[in-house]
Amino acid sequence: MSAVLGLSTNLRRLPGPRLGGDLERRALGAYLGLATGDALGATVELMTPREIRETYGEHRDIIGGGWLRLRPGQVTDDTQMSLALGRSILERGALQPRAVAEAFSDWMRQKPVDIGHTVRRAIVAFRETGSTERPPRDGDAGNGACMRCLPVALFTLGAPPAVVEAASCAQAHVTHHSPVADAGTLTVVRIVQSALLGGGRAELRVLTESLAARETRYRYDRRRTENPGAYLVETLGAVFQSLFATNTFEAALVDVVNRGGDADTTGAILGMIGGALYGADAIPERWLRRLEPAVARECIEQARGLVARSPLLGGSQGDHATSAQHAMDAAPGQGPRRSSHLAGGAGTGMGPPHPAWCGFTP
Ligand SMILES: [Mg+2]
Repeated sequence: MSAVLGLSTNLRRLPGPRLGGDLERRALGAYLGLATGDALGATVELMTPREIRETYGEHRDIIGGGWLRLRPGQVTDDTQMSLALGRSILERGALQPRAVAEAFSDWMRQKPVDIGHTVRRAIVAFRETGSTERPPRDGDAGNGACMRCLPVALFTLGAPPAVVEAASCAQAHVTHHSPVADAGTLTVVRIVQSALLGGGRAELRVLTESLAARETRYRYDRRRTENPGAYLVETLGAVFQSLFATNTFEAALVDVVNRGGDADTTGAILGMIGGALYGADAIPERWLRRLEPAVARECIEQARGLVARSPLLGGSQGDHATSAQHAMDAAPGQGPRRSSHLAGGAGTGMGPPHPAWCGFTP
């Protein structure tokens, strides 16, 4: 894999601290899977399955183009916002909503190739008011917060469930605030974490079925989801169907992007899940070779750096990270206090953590 990326033939010389063994294989797979899924799907974004068939037969190679006229291997906002979020966490040693909002604002200033309406509106509001948490709104159930949730899954690996939930909602609410989307995004974070820790398809299915049981809109056992839109319920319907209908990374990604619709984001989300499940070595070399080297390098660096600072590894390589025990320093009879891993003090726009923070308690 490393030779394919043109970075080094020696894994030790890739950027970021080494994690070792299976965890490294899965963490690199998740981040590189996100980027390859985004780059693969972007070609057929906004196309119907029939249009894809008529144009490409079956779309299975990273060739760029599409409505954004991308270079082959170029990624879109799904990967770029993930990298901005991850950069903010690594620079601060914590998830701080203000730093996240600033990172997104800096990214928007660079005139990205694509940006969602909800994201743009939230960043403009942050610039005008300093607000780092959007008010709850049904219309915010788009997939724009879920598509970039991977850094949270990596950084909170091994943290107690309430900390993972608080972190998932904190990053989401910078731009999107909807209980329905929060539940879907948190489930994707948990799926990725389960896969990173060696969970198989049966374990992942328990998580998706738990989501569908609690929020029936997320049921994915009915008819095939084609042409999924940006509504997270539709996006995850396609992702879960493709995940469980296939048994390799490549088959899953090809299946989901050929459903068309918001294909870069279905590709990105299934890419992060599939990469964690099957490992980086399961990503086709012809896809990895197409990724832009600077993007691939930062994906690898962040995958390693975020997991190295997670509670699972004791946060020992971060300057400010705390262990899960410190993070969850709960007083008797109260909910857990905010983790310094997450917010680092007052004025962050985060309310009091609560097990039902998102209105979704597994
Ligand atoms: Mg995109």
